[in-house]
Amino acid sequence: MRLRSKKNEYRLKAQTPHAIIEYSCEECLIQTECLVEFMDKLYFDKLCKEGCPNYGNKWSCPPYAPDYIKFVKEYEFIDVFMLYIELKQFDYIRQDYLKVKAANSILKSRIDKALRNSMDENEFYISTGSCRLCKSCKKKFGKPCAYPNHRTYSFEALGINVSLLAMELFQRELLWYKAKNLPEYTSVVAGLLTNNGIVNTKVSDQLLKLK
Ligand code: SF4
Repeated sequence: MRLRSKKNEYRLKAQTPHAIIEYSCEECLIQTECLVEFMDKLYFDKLCKEGCPNYGNKWSCPPYAPDYIKFVKEYEFIDVFMLYIELKQFDYIRQDYLKVKAANSILKSRIDKALRNSMDENEFYISTGSCRLCKSCKKKFGKPCAYPNHRTYSFEALGINVSLLAMELFQRELLWYKAKNLPEYTSVVAGLLTNNGIVNTKVSDQLLKLK
């Protein structure tokens, strides 16, 4: 790692129909080239091919997603965000896997919206999952992408090992719901691509604006 410019942490709240949920956002601004060491596009494309129903069915997923190096080549910096929620707050949901689903939905929609609303015309973002600009991706219907210049990709689709990235930048493990065991928290990782190496609060300001 050549640069870890600054790390910030925010405590935030989300108002849902059932409860006010607290979550955290950590931020780390770094040079885009520093994340190349976490890329293994062939390996992650293979995992997608073997285990994901989206493989070949979305323009933003493998095998159509570019690799990280190609995608970020016009940007010098990436502001990486890791958001996480403690799952004990979802006691009002009976089934554990639905707690994880609800928590992920809160985090994904918030950071994707905050990134979209805060980027300027010279910036772009790496989303928390496949592109959601259309209700259903046109690839499913054998049609070209509706917004090829605006579609988004996740770190995973670009071939980045997010588990290693999260440990390196935030010293935080990604936890999974497995064997019917509810993890302590769930988390998502996204990023803002920019040529501005100065830390600012525009993404956290957007998160604060969301109810
Ligand atoms: S813009 Fe629409 S068609 Fe293109 S990748 Fe996104 S969801 Fe699919």
